[in-house]
Formats: sequence, structure tokens, C-alpha cells
Amino acid sequence: MAARHVARGALTAVNGTTAVGLLIALVTRSKIRRGRHGVLIAEGYRLKVPPASCFTVGSVILTRRSAEWLLDEQRRDLFDHEHHHAGQYAVLGPLFWPAYWVACGWSYATTGSWGVRNFFERNAGLEAGGYPTDLPLRPWLLKLRGPSATRSKRRPPGNPSPG
Ligand SMILES: [Zn+2]
Repeated sequence: MAARHVARGALTAVNGTTAVGLLIALVTRSKIRRGRHGVLIAEGYRLKVPPASCFTVGSVILTRRSAEWLLDEQRRDLFDHEHHHAGQYAVLGPLFWPAYWVACGWSYATTGSWGVRNFFERNAGLEAGGYPTDLPLRPWLLKLRGPSATRSKRRPPGNPSPG
């Protein structure tokens, strides 16, 4: 196991986020299994919220499916995506939650999707997390940009606009 994976696991243990993940697993009666890279998988999560097939709290990936399903070679991208979130928890600790919700709010307000312009989801990989990789900005935001944005669009390429 690579040193950074060990460090990641240790950090999420110390900052308490993994304890919260384990607590959620306990309360929801999800079964804790060993994952990869020091990440635990809590399988058989049954609550309706959040609507995703899996989500990560500290170094615990909670999933509605089984650990085998998530560890399958076909789901390697998804696992890596969730593993990336564990790394974000290692850095931010409990601050991950408010920061993540602000990022969700920003993404939702600008695109109507929780993930597309969410820093944490972009950082973990949008496609691997099952998000569209890009969406048009909402009309209110385009309006905010003003008529200059529309004008610069019409400019032929190779004629860079100042500013
Ligand atoms: Zn994600």
C-alpha cells in the first residue's frame, strides 16, 4: 500500500470524518467491508438520501450495492472517484461538509446540476462520478456577464479581444 494511502487513512481517522462515516454505516445497518487503498466500504446502505449509488464520508464509501460490485474492475473509475473524495476529507476534515455544500449550491445555481461546477466533483472526476462533464450556464448568469460576452462570441477567431 502506498504511503499516501496510509497517510490519507490516518488523517481521516484523526480528523473524525471516518468516525462519522462508520457511525452512519452503523445507524443505517450497512455492513462494513474492506475496500482498496485503506478505504472501507459500507455495503447495503438503504436510505433514500443521497440519491447516488455511493457516497463517501471520511475513508468510508457507503454504497447501496455490495463491496464486490464496487470493487469490480468495471467500477474502477467510480471507486477512484470516491477514493478521491476520501483524500479531500483527509485535507479538509469536517470542513469538507460546509465547503462541499457551498460548492453544490454554486453548481446547482449556475447549471442546475449538483456536480458539473462543483469543485470537489470536478476534482474527483465528473465522468467517473456519473456527472455530465459540462452543461450550459443558466440564463441569469449569461445575463450577468453582459452584452460584451455575446459580442466577443461573434468576433472571428484569431482576433483576440482585449481584457
Ligand atoms: Zn463525487
